[in-house]
Amino acid sequence: MILVVLENQRGKIHSFSREAVVAGQIFAKKYDEELCILCLGENVEVLKEEASEFESDKLLVAEHELISQYTSDGFSKALSEIIAQESPRFTIMGHTYIARDFLPRVSVKQDLPFIGDLTSVSFEDEKTIFCKQVFNAKFLTNIEMDPSIEKAILSFQSAAFDKDKIIKGSPKNIIDVKLNLKDSDVRITSEEAFKESDSDVDLSSANFIVSVGRGIESEDNIPMMEKFVENVGADLGSSRPVVDMGIMPKSRLVGSSGFTVSPDLYLAVGLSGAIQHVVAMKGSKKIMGINTDRDAPIFEIADYAVVGDLFEIIPELTKKLSDS
Ligand SMILES: Cc1cc2nc3c(=O)[nH]c(=O)nc-3n(C[C@H](O)[C@H](O)[C@H](O)COP(=O)(O)OP(=O)(O)OC[C@H]3O[C@@H](n4cnc5c(N)ncnc54)[C@H](O)[C@@H]3O)c2cc1C
Repeated sequence: MILVVLENQRGKIHSFSREAVVAGQIFAKKYDEELCILCLGENVEVLKEEASEFESDKLLVAEHELISQYTSDGFSKALSEIIAQESPRFTIMGHTYIARDFLPRVSVKQDLPFIGDLTSVSFEDEKTIFCKQVFNAKFLTNIEMDPSIEKAILSFQSAAFDKDKIIKGSPKNIIDVKLNLKDSDVRITSEEAFKESDSDVDLSSANFIVSVGRGIESEDNIPMMEKFVENVGADLGSSRPVVDMGIMPKSRLVGSSGFTVSPDLYLAVGLSGAIQHVVAMKGSKKIMGINTDRDAPIFEIADYAVVGDLFEIIPELTKKLSDS
């Protein structure tokens, strides 16, 4: 069995969990295993409703008052119980804050390896090879599972799989799971969910992002970009130097030290495309760059390249859009 654990994000299935479902469907096919999707804890009814549209063999619904709100001890106890019962070959989650927090506990409780923060997987003959970034995303490394290890817990970074590739259908069975949780299993109390910042922006689930790089030069030029994004209906992101200069808040940072994003369109404006930036946005469906330097690295991964001065192009585009 392949077990995919869904996570609730503000009353919906987390976008990383949707990608994990795609991973689960691929693994189930590859290993000829049953696919089981688990709705755990918070907002299970909503998760169940959404997950009922995904093709799977089993949809497990695990609800209990002690895990109605996330805690690492409650969730790890609950998932451990389910893993002990179902004995999945792979347990898969998106690499979210919650996954990072409680999967290591599950790994210890169940004595299973946890291979986390993966960017991709490939299957070669009998081998399964996982890929992840190391040394602050400067290098990629391959991890080959020892054939003697039959089970593992995996978490995948955003954009490792395309969430739009979920095979739609319905679960063959929907099963309510009875959890044996006791008050003493949950000693942690949760405070209000952590937010990156006070702003409402959530770049990780944005469909269109326009990011500014050091080419923007100064804070005085941000209103020009704000006007542009408002016209095109995008969210504004940025590279790290722009955040370090205090021009943009950290909630807008795309990169290995900020958000990983995978919008339908990513427009990089005056941004060179350094590896620490690219690792976090290369999963975007379409990438476009505006840069005066035709050799800028961003153009190596861009679908559309505009070689030119942002201070001429952006106002002109904004004008055309507002006139139309
Ligand atoms: C440990 C570590 C972590 C890091 N984490 C991150 C991270 O999370 N995110 C991140 O972004 N970076 C990160 N960095 C920094 C990264 O290495 C790069 O320095 C940074 O991404 C470069 O930002 P930039 O593209 O805005 O600036 P630059 O590399 O200076 O590029 C500016 C670009 O603008 C172009 N340009 C200039 N003027 C114009 C104009 N008028 N019109 C059009 N184009 C113009 C230039 O040709 C140039 O390509 C990290 C670095 C380290 C060491």
